[in-house]
Amino acid sequence: MPIELTEKEQIWEKALAEIEMSISKPNFLTWFQNTSIAQENNDVIVINVPNTFVKEWLSNKYHKLIIQVLRGLYPSIRNVEYIICAQSVNSQRAAAPRYKNFSIGAEEQPELENIHIDRVANLNPRYTFDNFIVGSFNELAHAAAQAVTKNLGSSYNPLFIYGGTGLGKTHLLQAIGNKIRQDNPNAKVQYLTSEKFANEYVAAMQNNAIPSFKEKYRQHELLIIDDVQFFSAKFKFQEEFFHIFNALYEKNKQIIFSSDRSPKTIPELEERLRSRFEGGMLANIQPPEYEARKAILQSKAAQREFIVPEEIIEYIAHNVQSNVRELEGALQSVFAHSKLLKKIPSLLEIKDVLQENIKSRKKTTIVHLIKTVAEFYNISEKEIFEQTRKKQIVFPRQIAMYLLREDFNTSYPYIGEKFGGKDHTTVIHAYEKIVNGLKTNEKIKEDVRQIRELLYTKEV
Ligand code: ADP
Ligand code: MG
Repeated sequence: MPIELTEKEQIWEKALAEIEMSISKPNFLTWFQNTSIAQENNDVIVINVPNTFVKEWLSNKYHKLIIQVLRGLYPSIRNVEYIICAQSVNSQRAAAPRYKNFSIGAEEQPELENIHIDRVANLNPRYTFDNFIVGSFNELAHAAAQAVTKNLGSSYNPLFIYGGTGLGKTHLLQAIGNKIRQDNPNAKVQYLTSEKFANEYVAAMQNNAIPSFKEKYRQHELLIIDDVQFFSAKFKFQEEFFHIFNALYEKNKQIIFSSDRSPKTIPELEERLRSRFEGGMLANIQPPEYEARKAILQSKAAQREFIVPEEIIEYIAHNVQSNVRELEGALQSVFAHSKLLKKIPSLLEIKDVLQENIKSRKKTTIVHLIKTVAEFYNISEKEIFEQTRKKQIVFPRQIAMYLLREDFNTSYPYIGEKFGGKDHTTVIHAYEKIVNGLKTNEKIKEDVRQIRELLYTKEV
């Protein structure tokens, strides 16, 4: 039986109410907040979504749930489709009364810092899977982390997560530990940084307490070591650690590592330890792309029950590009400022406030990007512009075009012009080649990550 048009709005409202009950709040806010119903035609429901990122997620991850809920309410519904509609961002749901707005006044927001750190396991409960936002940039690492919680010691051992600073490695590692402790409060879990681990080892050595140090670590069911790039060049320690690792590994105890670079690119690392690092599951986290940055900002604002105007979210997402920590910092400045003003600041005011955040990143010009890419691949800046099909020139050129498009939002025709009057379809081809390469080719991923690090995080 067809549904009355007047019911249209209600269909989705009812469905949302049910969906909200069956998934976590951050997920609900991230993926469903700005959706609305577009059409209902021949028992097919079309949902407005704000961007491709949300579209992908609803159709890949939540499609089943959405269909199930809708059919529960209206058995005649056969299918659901999603279309991108920029307006839906400003739909009435964003202004739904359940969210407080900036005129929050004297009411304090709970501080993010949590004091209840589990001293033995060294876990901070603020880092959970529930408030970890997943997108294509970190999807693999997230899936691997979840798999580990379900099959400790047997699915991916060791799990090695790597990626640039501020991209959520510590958050994910801690979320695993927290989940294991939540399922089994007696589980022997410990999180520590590689430096802390090394320091403890040295102290044990000085106190002639190595046997008890080793014994302690052999008891662990889950050992999490963050930032293992600091093992670099500490050869004596690497040797000892190798044995501790083996002892745990042989007993099927789970070991998890993070690093700001892949095992292959950690300098001065003993070969046998490197091969241990690589012997399980390697998962890379990339910097989030524009749509993901927007989703992160929206979700983080929603978690704190603030409505941030779309244009401010977009402004931050465009200008703060390097990592999640910086996005959080920018949002924090907006919150602080709003509280001070007791109103939603205008975009102009925000631009002023964020000057600091944005300036503090190295001001990267296009010229600097070209120079960095050329240097990275050991070719001259002149060569990158040469009309040639030589592979050692074409590939860096494609990388430069990709970064210009992705990070600088430069138009295809403009990029074509810069590179000696190339047709914009050539630029699109280059861009897509790298986009696809990033999905399948570890080397390309690592190159792009390292170039971005040179561009955005190193001091001038
Ligand atoms: P890293 O260890 O890679 O340097 P962190 O785990 O310390 O990065 O993350 C930096 C900040 O960003 C933390 O406050 C963390 O909670 C937040 N963060 C990073 N990734 C995510 C994510 N996917 N979802 C939610 N918050 C994130
Ligand atoms: Mg960290």
